[in-house]
Amino acid sequence: MADQAVLDASEQVGATTPPQFEVVVIGSGVSGIYQLKRLSDLAINAVVLSTDAGLGGTWFNNRYPGARFDSESYTYGYSFSKDLLEQWHWKERFSGQPENLKYLQFVADKFDLNKYMRFNHTVTSMTFDEANDLWRLRTKENDEEITTRFVITALGLLSIPTKPRYPGMDSFRGQSFHTFEWPHEPIDLTGKRVGVVGTGATAIQVIADIADKVGHLTVFQRRANWAAPLSNGPISDEEMAQIRGRYEEIFETCARTPGGFEHEPDRRGFYNLTKEERIEFWDSLYGTPGFALWLRNFTEIFVDEDANAEFSEYIANRIRERVKDPILAEKLIPKDHGFGVQRVPMETHYYEVYNRDNVELVDISETPIEEILPLGIRTSEQIIELDLIVYATGFDAITGAFDHIDITGIGGQKLRDNWSEGPSTYLGAFIHGFPNLAMVAGPQGASASVNFPRSIETAVDWVTAFIEHVNEHSYSRFEASAEAEQSWSGHVRKMYGSMLMRKAKSWFTGYNSNVEGHEEGTVRYFVYNGGQPKFNERLTRVAANGYEGIDFS
Ligand code: NAP
Repeated sequence: MADQAVLDASEQVGATTPPQFEVVVIGSGVSGIYQLKRLSDLAINAVVLSTDAGLGGTWFNNRYPGARFDSESYTYGYSFSKDLLEQWHWKERFSGQPENLKYLQFVADKFDLNKYMRFNHTVTSMTFDEANDLWRLRTKENDEEITTRFVITALGLLSIPTKPRYPGMDSFRGQSFHTFEWPHEPIDLTGKRVGVVGTGATAIQVIADIADKVGHLTVFQRRANWAAPLSNGPISDEEMAQIRGRYEEIFETCARTPGGFEHEPDRRGFYNLTKEERIEFWDSLYGTPGFALWLRNFTEIFVDEDANAEFSEYIANRIRERVKDPILAEKLIPKDHGFGVQRVPMETHYYEVYNRDNVELVDISETPIEEILPLGIRTSEQIIELDLIVYATGFDAITGAFDHIDITGIGGQKLRDNWSEGPSTYLGAFIHGFPNLAMVAGPQGASASVNFPRSIETAVDWVTAFIEHVNEHSYSRFEASAEAEQSWSGHVRKMYGSMLMRKAKSWFTGYNSNVEGHEEGTVRYFVYNGGQPKFNERLTRVAANGYEGIDFS
């Protein structure tokens, strides 16, 4: 009886105590920072909770040598304030991690956002309190419960690094880490025997950057990856002045193109040109900075097997030209997928690295890694002694960061159970059964297939307007309807059907051999592939129709 009285009293307190915050934003990367800016403009009582020790998300964590944009720097920067471009000098066309982090710190300082951010606050659980229409959050580092009316997740797409599951990994006597966890203090690589596991976009940047700094480099490649030249270069004062003068043009073009870049697809039609004309066109694209080779190409490359095969052969020949040893060149040419069906890594002299005497490629599809030993790596064929092992082995993409939080919605349902076979969302922003929760850069949104900041600025603006709508109408609860979610998820899924990428073993289809349940087999429909303009049209229509698909109370 006494216990019951205590319980009743505490429930009473919970019922009458207003939540501490109107909005909790989880994540302090590019999207969390901008979401906070928009909420602070509206004087909404908001806080950012971040697992990191500082702001920047991707650019706080990925400190590996060679980490840099693959978007043109000035198209990656925020567009919401012209002042930012006026006051910031991008020094390189594809700016590197240290500069990118400084840029985000500059933005947060300029708009006085740091005071709303709590670092070293890893959200471990969030439970929807149905009686009071609020979320109750717990963090790893603090005992206090945090209550809020709304949660906006800005968790990033690639924030949970994954390492292989080789036996003996802990026994290694040298240093070893995932690229995402590259130490903040500089590492002297001089004379070191370094092993890099993986040949994705990250590895391709690291390998090219460190090859001439290490004693010996061994690259452990499971599958080859198509890569294209980044063609980076400095941006002079004069060029920066021109870029500033093109502010409107740059962002208008980015808003118009499917990928949110200045690169626009060629719509002449692959088959309307002769093979010679196509080759001439590709010659003009090869070496054009950034994603030109991928995104200025014919659209058929993405959907038509024959067109893709012809272009892939063109790139294969480029690799054959650049790698002196023909046997090695063949190993570096992917045989299991065509160019561009996975996100294309951008490279700077990557292929030339393999012409160096101190670089060796170990094809672990032929001779798998069997064990990590105290002194190095043992494959089925040899033992390679190493001082440092770098795991460039990818991420538990898109849903991994959600799975790391114990998220409980209506009726005690768990998000990680609901998404065990893949995510299901409405517009990449809402989830049925999980009220008062909005996502920016959420699963099945456009951000993974688009120049990220271009996409999340739209998403943040839209979610902010949505929150205003909820407040104007004094609603205490919003939730996507089951029908709206099913319809959107079905739409996203159907779109995969026409794309060659549906067959690719990549993070776009949820493949990751290091994560239980994400091995080859189940395709997860992670990404809206219709491009930014179509996605934005849909968002605009939904808002104009009074946020159709969302139930309010
Ligand atoms: P990733 O594309 O998933 O590549 C992971 C690499 O590790 C692949 O080569 C993979 O081989 C290999 N791997 C994974 N597990 C392995 C294992 N157990 N044993 C051996 N090899 C293993 O990851 P990422 O390179 O970090 O890139 C992820 C994404 O980050 C990119 O697609 C891109 O969107 C983004 N990114 C962007 C930039 C930029 O320039 N802005 C730079 C880096 C990354 P398999 O192919 O055989 O699976």
